Amino acid sequence: MSFKDLKLNRPLLRAVAEAGYDNPTLVQEKTIPLILEKRDVIVSAQTGTGKTAAFALPILQSLFDRQDAPKKGKQVKALIISPTRELASQIEENFKTYSAYTNLRTAVVFGGISIEPQKEVLKKGLDILIATPGRLLDLHKQDFVNLDYVETLVLDEADLMLDMGFIDDVKKIERLCTKEKQVLLFSATIPYKVEQLANSILTNPERIEVAQNSSTSKNVNQLLYFVPKKNKIELCLHLLRNTIKGNIIIFRRTKFGVEKLEKTLVKNGYKADSIHGDKSQTARQDALDRFKKGDVNILIATDVAARGIDINNLDAVVNFDLPNIPETYVHRIGRTARAGNKGMAYSLCSADEKTYIQTIQQLIQLQLDVIDEHPYPLDPKAKPIVHKSNKTGSKHKKGRKSEASKKKKKRWY
Ligand code: AMP
Repeated sequence: MSFKDLKLNRPLLRAVAEAGYDNPTLVQEKTIPLILEKRDVIVSAQTGTGKTAAFALPILQSLFDRQDAPKKGKQVKALIISPTRELASQIEENFKTYSAYTNLRTAVVFGGISIEPQKEVLKKGLDILIATPGRLLDLHKQDFVNLDYVETLVLDEADLMLDMGFIDDVKKIERLCTKEKQVLLFSATIPYKVEQLANSILTNPERIEVAQNSSTSKNVNQLLYFVPKKNKIELCLHLLRNTIKGNIIIFRRTKFGVEKLEKTLVKNGYKADSIHGDKSQTARQDALDRFKKGDVNILIATDVAARGIDINNLDAVVNFDLPNIPETYVHRIGRTARAGNKGMAYSLCSADEKTYIQTIQQLIQLQLDVIDEHPYPLDPKAKPIVHKSNKTGSKHKKGRKSEASKKKKKRWY
């Protein structure tokens, strides 16, 4: 199937061709016709499947005929709600790319930065608004956003949105829009609470499932290092010195771990930056920009902070901590070996992570190549470390968490 078969108009086809897309992806093929028919849809698809264009293109197509409303008279007709600022910015970039040859206006609003410039942008009038929930409600309360004309409401990354506690905000936003609107719900997974939300705000939705890709690319060379937990940083430094080259993302499970590793790498002369949930919006965006521009070649991230972010074409992915959810392993290493390139994945496994390796290998139906030749081998008989409770006194007890972390107790990512 080609984009022409999807009956997109010329300005969109031109922009899509210039973006280098040859053919629609599976999720686009399945979803675009339904959205053009004004159906409500529930789409379960991961980032990387082309899901943003799957809703952006039909939205632009539907608005195209009315693109020439006098600028100040433009009203928000499509509203896209996204859980994080990075994702919201990325969606805006996509809309801008695809609408380059139209007169449709797009803007993004999110928290963590000054609200005043956003008010100015809204005053000028626009067709498509991308927003994080809190800032949108704030702007609505102050009367800078009118949602009476919203024809299409998109909830992107709905599962993450609910995990982050935005359920009430999302429901409120839905009620502020007109009743007749079309609702499009996109989610990587559809757990019960997403299902419940869908039942309460979608009308007779069509379901689209883009099969979870549980296989890892044959082009990724996946290596496994058994190592005592206490030696992981040393092994990581050893591998960076001798083996791992190019643009690298290193995944850790907690923001505390991310910060600790970043400090060590920088101290050892590596060009590294990091993203995690405690960093300000500007700091996270700066880190991404520095990585994309090549000012740093190592990005250390938690899974949640990296989720949905368009950092692909990496030379290597390092699983410093192994994920306890096996699908996360597949997502992580899917960021390398794109478009026929070769990629490397290095997994560091301590005694207490051995069970994770088993479930990962079951999911991907592949045994990872174990590398024994390294300076910090794990004694095969080593038992998982049992964490002592605080009562017995951990040596890390004091000063282990950042101030921001203490304030936001629930956020670990
Ligand atoms: P998404 O899943 O929306 O985050 O998209 C992942 C990446 O795929 C983005 O870099 C898009 O620019 C790219 N993309 C989206 N649709 C296509 C397509 N039809 N062909 C090639 N690349 C695409």
